[in-house]
Amino acid sequence: LEKKHFQRDATKVMEWIDDYFAQLESLPVKSKVKPKAIYEQIPAAPPESSEDLDQILQDLSEVIVPGITHWQHPNFHAYFPANSSLESVLAEFITAAIGAQCMIWDTSPAAAELEERVMEWLRDAMGLPANFEGVIQDTASSATLVAILTAREVKTDFRANEDGVPNNLRVYCSTETHSSIEKAVGISGIGKKNLVKIPVDEKMRLRADLLEARIREDLENGLVPCCVVAAIGTTGTVAVDPLPELAAICEQYGVWLHVDAAYAGTALLLPEYQWMIEGIDRADSFVFNPHKWMFTNFDCTAYFVKDVDVLIRAFEVLPEYLKTKSRGLVNDYRDWGIPLGRRFRALKLWFVIRSFGMEGLRKKLRHHIALNEKFAAAIGEHPEFELVIPPFLNYCAFRWVPQNETDEARLNACNEQLLDTINKSGKLFLSHTKIGGKYVLRMVIGQTYVEERHVLQALEILREATKMVPLGRPN
Ligand code: PLP
Repeated sequence: LEKKHFQRDATKVMEWIDDYFAQLESLPVKSKVKPKAIYEQIPAAPPESSEDLDQILQDLSEVIVPGITHWQHPNFHAYFPANSSLESVLAEFITAAIGAQCMIWDTSPAAAELEERVMEWLRDAMGLPANFEGVIQDTASSATLVAILTAREVKTDFRANEDGVPNNLRVYCSTETHSSIEKAVGISGIGKKNLVKIPVDEKMRLRADLLEARIREDLENGLVPCCVVAAIGTTGTVAVDPLPELAAICEQYGVWLHVDAAYAGTALLLPEYQWMIEGIDRADSFVFNPHKWMFTNFDCTAYFVKDVDVLIRAFEVLPEYLKTKSRGLVNDYRDWGIPLGRRFRALKLWFVIRSFGMEGLRKKLRHHIALNEKFAAAIGEHPEFELVIPPFLNYCAFRWVPQNETDEARLNACNEQLLDTINKSGKLFLSHTKIGGKYVLRMVIGQTYVEERHVLQALEILREATKMVPLGRPN
């Protein structure tokens, strides 16, 4: 691309994006392509000579888009959202243009200082303690790995980095916590066999009494409790672990307390959900994803830590070529996580927060929560649907219970087929989980541009789809 054509071609790309958003609702939410269908349409070898942007954009529409599952579609209610916003898209365009690699302050002072400031904005707006410091990471999985590695270093007096990891460290979480904890414990060298999953109570919260009993037992057996991961909003049921009790235990036994609020953390922008982090001042680290429910396109994870010195000590490596005169006066984020190279992610957060304003963010979140209340009420009133847990935030877990059907295995099969029917329709995309052995459908209303009509449409699609599942309609 010649530089002189940039404006012309950028306009074409912007027009393409504009058209994409305009036609989004007419596209199937979940891609319908068969495995390898896209791969086979892409030539086996790259082109020798330059191709025209018009041709590339045409192939984008014809070859690539059919293989996209549209995460920004207002009928996308699967998993947890990875919502975006026009403001975030524009900022990302600029980020790519600037192309700064923000490993240290010197490589872009504005990137480092904007990051410092927007993390303070978020920290204060979310009611996190003033002595926490924040850093942007790529995903909650990476941030949790960072937390567990830091806990490991603190517990081994910073010897594990030097000598290797002792095999008697223990990490604790509930049976409901996200798979990223297990992954991190494996990668950290602590070993998955040393991850202890503590049972939950009837509200799916980690049982603090069982945690304490287990820590005591482990200590008696010569094991070394190192880290507890508490969840604020688990993936299956959005359960909120009891932070005050967990913090007291962690303090008593000298254990690092990491809080995974990857998805539900955004709700802390609302004063009415501040109760979820009562006791957070006694935690050591906290993570949430603006890329899930805060209108900031993937990827953008906010990680906060109480004692930044131990974080840096755990991660610092300082080769000659990275030494700078500003060291000690500024934040060099290379030492605050795993990768050296870092994207300028603060820019999109800055754009989103400034464009929405805190009031605008709160308004959107409350809108989603209100829509979920409506959806859940309709599900609860319907004779053939059942709320499996009480709705919370913008999340609803429910199942279809065809009349006269009481066999649990058949109910599970009915719901699996119902989900398949819905998702194949392309009109709506939900995902599933199992709660107490029950196959349930997960509905999350977190799309940036979702409106009430989409939620009503979802109810209608669900009702219609039940008529198409033969298993639920025995003669
Ligand atoms: N923690 C929780 C509670 C989650 O729900 C998820 C993803 O849904 C994660 C962690 C992992 O997030 P990421 O994809 O940013 O690693």
